[in-house]
Amino acid sequence: MLPYTTVEAAEATLGRSLTAAETLWLNYSATKSDYFLFCHNIIFLFLIFSVFPFYYLFLEYFFKNSVYPFKIQPKVKLSFSDSLQCYKSVMRMFFLVVGPLQLVSYPSIKMIGIRTSLPLPSLLEIVMQLGVYFVVEDYTNYWIHRFLHCKWGYENIHKVHHEYTAPIGFAAPYAHWAEVLILGIPSFLGPAMVPGHMITFWLWIATRQIEAIETHSGYDFPWSPTKYIPFYGGADYHDYHHYVGGQSQSNFASVFTYCDFIYGTDKGYRYQKKVLQQLREGVKSKGEQNGILHESEQGHKLD
Ligand SMILES: [Zn+2]
Ligand SMILES: [Zn+2]
Repeated sequence: MLPYTTVEAAEATLGRSLTAAETLWLNYSATKSDYFLFCHNIIFLFLIFSVFPFYYLFLEYFFKNSVYPFKIQPKVKLSFSDSLQCYKSVMRMFFLVVGPLQLVSYPSIKMIGIRTSLPLPSLLEIVMQLGVYFVVEDYTNYWIHRFLHCKWGYENIHKVHHEYTAPIGFAAPYAHWAEVLILGIPSFLGPAMVPGHMITFWLWIATRQIEAIETHSGYDFPWSPTKYIPFYGGADYHDYHHYVGGQSQSNFASVFTYCDFIYGTDKGYRYQKKVLQQLREGVKSKGEQNGILHESEQGHKLD
């Protein structure tokens, strides 16, 4: 809770006028406890898990022909009820694990120093901190994910997430409860190393989940703004990990591609990409547009 409730009191404390964003934040948060503000994450996660995957489902059903060329595994078709079933499982996990985890993790947020006070961070500070959070999470997640692909980890925990060999947006948070808990650690490390404002923390939780839904969407849209992020993996990259399935020793990283490159775990993906490219060029030169290329792309479409 802020130590002042009026704009005048806040301006007197800061020794300057409040910005429009700071006035908005003061008016909204002044009488709310830090715990209540932190718990906004539960609402945000519920909305993100619900709205974003439905967006992809909406495209699939109402703009089928327009988005079909960008479907990564066009041969695989999930029924509407299958998608809904996945959403129901995710919601069950949300209410039994994700929500309660958020409720009880408040002391750790307080301990690392996530603040709700004024002044608000600048846009540059928010972007820089989010960048750190993504890199730290990506690196830690990479190694945890690799561990989950050992025999014990896969059989007992990770195989639930791999039930979808052609993932859909709803399947992003679809995992064993233990995996949900374990992967909470990488998400927490970045903010623990570089603690910021509650708004930055909200944005971190929201953008990470939206990113996960995009990478599981099953569509590789060329107009996605994430195409402009250096070393970004994206939907095609993570889809390959699901496509190969339980035996997959490729594309472990959750966001970027550099970890797989450095540790040599992107070889299968790069090889397949190269072979399909050569095949595509060969087919083009022979003018067999509906021949081999079509057959090969039915498996895992690349580019
Ligand atoms: Zn995996
Ligand atoms: Zn996945």
